[in-house]
Amino acid sequence: MTINPNLINEYFYCKNKLLLKNLITTNNSFVQIGSILDLENKSKLRIGNFEIDDINHQTKTIIEIKKRVTNFDGNKFQLLYYLYLTKNIFPNYSGKLIGLEDKKSFNINLSKKNEQELLIILENINNFILKNNFDLNLLFESKCIQCGCYDFCYA
Ligand code: SF4
Repeated sequence: MTINPNLINEYFYCKNKLLLKNLITTNNSFVQIGSILDLENKSKLRIGNFEIDDINHQTKTIIEIKKRVTNFDGNKFQLLYYLYLTKNIFPNYSGKLIGLEDKKSFNINLSKKNEQELLIILENINNFILKNNFDLNLLFESKCIQCGCYDFCYA
């Protein structure tokens, strides 16, 4: 199973959101690895139906832009996943994570260690989804009030 990059964010943010987003995206997201990369427009890199924010071929950088970097690990591994998926096409590219409102910027590289961690996370996400599927484990937290999935969980 190919993991939707957004699910990596949710894995770190909330496991319920991971399951909900997986249900929403499974049927209309990319599933086939063969269609994963669309390189026709190289300044806008598309992975399935998911578009990478920006890519700079001069500096060899894949850029992920967030409003705010409030879920650093989720954002970091999402970007590492892009680097991993494109490493054979764009070798030696690095990543930059940018928070617009909080004016943060992080350089992220697909080191051997990061790649190994990423592969474990992808496997964990896959196993978690297979094991839990529709099974939400609700425990109200302050972040729930702001969450886009609030109605799914608590309405
Ligand atoms: S409302 Fe709360 S439990 Fe539900 S997905 Fe959002 S953060 Fe997770």
